[in-house]
Amino acid sequence: MGIQFEYDKDKFYEALILSAEDYIYVCDLRTNIARLPDNFIYDFNLTDNYISNFSYVWLEKIHPDDRSMYLKSLEDMMIGVTDDHSLDYRALNRNNEWIWVRCRGHLIRDDNNQPELFAGIITNIGRKNKVDITTGLLNKFEFENQINYFLHTKEKFSVIVINIDNFKNINYLYDREFGDSVLRITGQYLQNNLPSEMEVYRLDGDEFGIITKIMDNELIKQLYYSLKKHFSAQHEYKGKKYHSPLSAGCYIYNPDISEDYQTILKKAHKALDYTKSNGKNKITFYESTIPENKTRELELLELLHESVDNDFLNFEVYCQPQVFANNEKLKGAEALLRWKCDKYGIISPYEFIPLLEKSNLIIPVGKWVLKQAVKSCAKCVKYHPNFKMSVNVSYIQLLDNTFVDFIKSTIEEEKISFSNIIIELTESRFVSDKELLKSTFASIRKLGMNIAMDDFGTGYSSLEILKEVPADIVKIDKAFVKNIMNSSFDKTFIKFIVELCHDVGIKVCLEGVERIEELDIVSPMNLDFIQGYLFGKPQHSEVFFKNYLLN
Ligand code: C2E
Ligand code: CA
Ligand code: CA
Repeated sequence: MGIQFEYDKDKFYEALILSAEDYIYVCDLRTNIARLPDNFIYDFNLTDNYISNFSYVWLEKIHPDDRSMYLKSLEDMMIGVTDDHSLDYRALNRNNEWIWVRCRGHLIRDDNNQPELFAGIITNIGRKNKVDITTGLLNKFEFENQINYFLHTKEKFSVIVINIDNFKNINYLYDREFGDSVLRITGQYLQNNLPSEMEVYRLDGDEFGIITKIMDNELIKQLYYSLKKHFSAQHEYKGKKYHSPLSAGCYIYNPDISEDYQTILKKAHKALDYTKSNGKNKITFYESTIPENKTRELELLELLHESVDNDFLNFEVYCQPQVFANNEKLKGAEALLRWKCDKYGIISPYEFIPLLEKSNLIIPVGKWVLKQAVKSCAKCVKYHPNFKMSVNVSYIQLLDNTFVDFIKSTIEEEKISFSNIIIELTESRFVSDKELLKSTFASIRKLGMNIAMDDFGTGYSSLEILKEVPADIVKIDKAFVKNIMNSSFDKTFIKFIVELCHDVGIKVCLEGVERIEELDIVSPMNLDFIQGYLFGKPQHSEVFFKNYLLN
């Protein structure tokens, strides 16, 4: 018995059109009525699913330059030259844009060879080129089109630009292919977890754009915070761990003030830039009062140059005590650079150090800090022979091949032991160029100095680095103390790192202990050293000397 397979033609058509992005249509050539799918009606602003004389209605939507080609193809079928229709042409969509479509169809004739039915598929080839292949999201041209369309229809909308913080670290740590995967995962997460009235686009590089009719900044903020929660955590893909926290800027557009696409994008970017230079991992809403970051940055750079040229005017070195964890006795200090300028007052090192690094001014300034720190250390050593002064060193300073010699001669001049100085390098820098690091570390160690890995736990693959580029001391970042009262993860992390480091002979310093309750929690953890406000804030090196060594 043959297989019975019967189905309802209408249902079949229904299922087909619902499963295709393309437009599938059928035309009854005896009545000249065409049946058209909903997406087609919508995209091309047509009136009904059933249209009489469709070829002529559609002709109106075809670009004038392409019409004769279209008519010729219809004629060829009518006069029997061919039963196939295959043509690319431009059609006007609902946004009043000419887009390329590809139309393929086939004509069926009745027993008398008269045209009976014509069915085909129209593909929006324009749309296919609007998708970003890395992320599968709509691309920046679509983003611009959509904004222009809303501007045209005078609608209210909000634009959000989102950027992955420190994305280049991901590319740097792994490779571009992995970076692309992170972009795809991030983009897909955004698209799948934001409400459907927020369309996500891939803009340039590690930037995403969102267009939405949601105008309420509280609601946008809430949505951002739900994303932030997800993206602040560490993720893993193909066995590789990474962090991709997101910074965002939002501009809520009001059609009462007419603006163009570029102006709108600039405002959203200005809000994003503000987030980026104010701690990242936040959302900022555009306001005309947002300070011009670029000019502040350029101004600060000028002022930093001026300070350096004036014999390091307005720079100072502060010292923050470090104590032994078991008896709270003074172990040494960390030298911390301070800088102020007349125009803006005291500037945080989190703002000016990156500028010094960007401009390479960190090379002379770093030498100056080292010199001051070694001098202060020499004073302290007179009262406390085992005093250890920790000095922060930027990665760029290590690239300067006179650096180790400079340390050597500075320490010799002040007649202290090399073991009185510790070089601190931030964790993320330990990965950058392992070969160079290994050889520079070797020369630093050969002199008898110790090396501390700063901000441990904040980077991408802390444990891996620990294994590859050994440090003498690991400084656990203060972020782990911040929530220690209610985070069992942070507690366990500190305990685990101490154990692990001790197993391989590395000492551990915990930063950021501010309160006695925090100290109570970490006391049993077998830490070696503690540095935090509880034992002293950073203070001018002279004041430090008086407070901690003369008493
Ligand atoms: P860092 O090396 O991690 O320095 C520790 C930072 O934590 C200091 O901030 C210090 O004031 C702060 N801190 C210490 N204990 C506590 C605490 O209990 N609670 C809180 N909330 N904070 C605490 P500071 O002085 O603002 O320095 C910021 C960063 O600037 C430093 O972080 C370091 O990365 C960089 N930096 C400072 N001086 C230099 C320098 O001379 N050279 C280089 N390359 N970088 C420097
Ligand atoms: Ca440090
Ligand atoms: Ca630190």
